Amino acid sequence: MASADCRRIVIVGGAIMGSFCAWSLRRAGFAGPITVLEKDSTYRYSSTALSAASIRTQFGTPVNIRMSLFAADMFRDLRAVFGPDADISYREKGYLFLGATGEEATRIAAATMQRAEGADIEVLEPAELRARFPGFDFDGVPIGTFGARDEGWFDAWSLLSLVRQGAHRAGVAYVDAAAERFETRGDRITGVGLSTGERVPCDVCVVAAGAMSGRLVEPLGIGLPVVPKKRTVFAFRTPFTLDNFPMVFDTSGIWVRPEGDGYIGGMQPPPDRDPDADGDFEPQHELMDTYWPLLARRIPAMQALRVRRAWAGHYEVNTLDHNGVVGPHDRLDNLIFATGFSGHGVQHAPAVGQAVAELITTGAYRSIDLTPLGWARIRDGRPLVESIVY
Ligand SMILES: Cc1cc2nc3c(=O)[nH]c(=O)nc-3n(C[C@H](O)[C@H](O)[C@H](O)COP(=O)(O)OP(=O)(O)OC[C@H]3O[C@@H](n4cnc5c(N)ncnc54)[C@H](O)[C@@H]3O)c2cc1C
Repeated sequence: MASADCRRIVIVGGAIMGSFCAWSLRRAGFAGPITVLEKDSTYRYSSTALSAASIRTQFGTPVNIRMSLFAADMFRDLRAVFGPDADISYREKGYLFLGATGEEATRIAAATMQRAEGADIEVLEPAELRARFPGFDFDGVPIGTFGARDEGWFDAWSLLSLVRQGAHRAGVAYVDAAAERFETRGDRITGVGLSTGERVPCDVCVVAAGAMSGRLVEPLGIGLPVVPKKRTVFAFRTPFTLDNFPMVFDTSGIWVRPEGDGYIGGMQPPPDRDPDADGDFEPQHELMDTYWPLLARRIPAMQALRVRRAWAGHYEVNTLDHNGVVGPHDRLDNLIFATGFSGHGVQHAPAVGQAVAELITTGAYRSIDLTPLGWARIRDGRPLVESIVY
């Protein structure tokens, strides 16, 4: 895809991925028309609005660590980027991953790789765990890994608002309509047909439709393995408090972190209760029956717990390898993917936006190389597996 060919860009999906792509294109100097198609401008069901909005450098795939570091730099320096009033309530309180007996070598190897990529990860033995996190029961936990820098949580809605407003101010057009069909000529996408009956011509089309991305490109004969999977989040109160409470990923598979004056947490449903979600956003309340005892096992004072509410959103799961798909399709090479982040996409959107903008405006990745996330691995069935997923 030659950058000189690009005069009009259409982005399908106007949440965090689509908006970062649009905003970054303007920052990269692209002055032509950019149209963002968004079928629901309330973002009520977007993964972005329903996410747990946390950021970590503890990934198993090096490129994911680099993308997180890119975002953490931006979050710390947010006002320089988005202006003096910018605030996404970034809390750099770290992630604590707990390892079970037998996992020590894997955890140490992961931390070594993460450090080599620039992440600041400590390996903690049981005595250090107990000293730092009083109130936790670390029985049966021989190892923990903790990232005090570049890890924590933020407000995803505020981030979306900032980047969307920034894009809007820079002349990006957001259109309230669903993309319903693609028009092609030879090996090019030439336009997108909308739910309003209109048609938007394009020289480049970016697919940032989140969990719907796989279904969106199916009529083009493209087998993008991105499907919606429902994930439930519980918001609750307990009397337990700890100033340095981090985001915790337990050996049992549950996660918990502070949110406001309480906590949020969740767990994956068992595989036999995890079908592709078809417009279903009903929380899986029954998961609390499993979640609660596991939580109380790790933090006994959380035995006293009151659920305030629960919600469910859709992970955009790349069933091949749980990693994002970024870059052009091979046959239709003006169709660019920015999707499939499998539950870790809010934190990676700033880097994806930058990379996609560079690719479109210069024909190559410059500041962050996302080649490993390219279409080739999907086409060839060569997974780049992200092993640290929740
Ligand atoms: C419960 C939960 C917890 C999560 N926790 C985290 C976390 O802690 N950290 C993290 O980084 N990520 C997390 N994620 C994942 C993260 O939310 C997603 O990876 C990210 O939001 C993906 O952004 P997106 O813009 O690609 O998708 P979305 O936010 O889903 O946006 C896609 C947009 O495309 C629009 N759209 C779809 N089809 C069309 C069409 N045909 N035409 C026009 N518009 C269309 C939709 O309306 C939507 O607004 C979590 C997700 C969930 C559900």
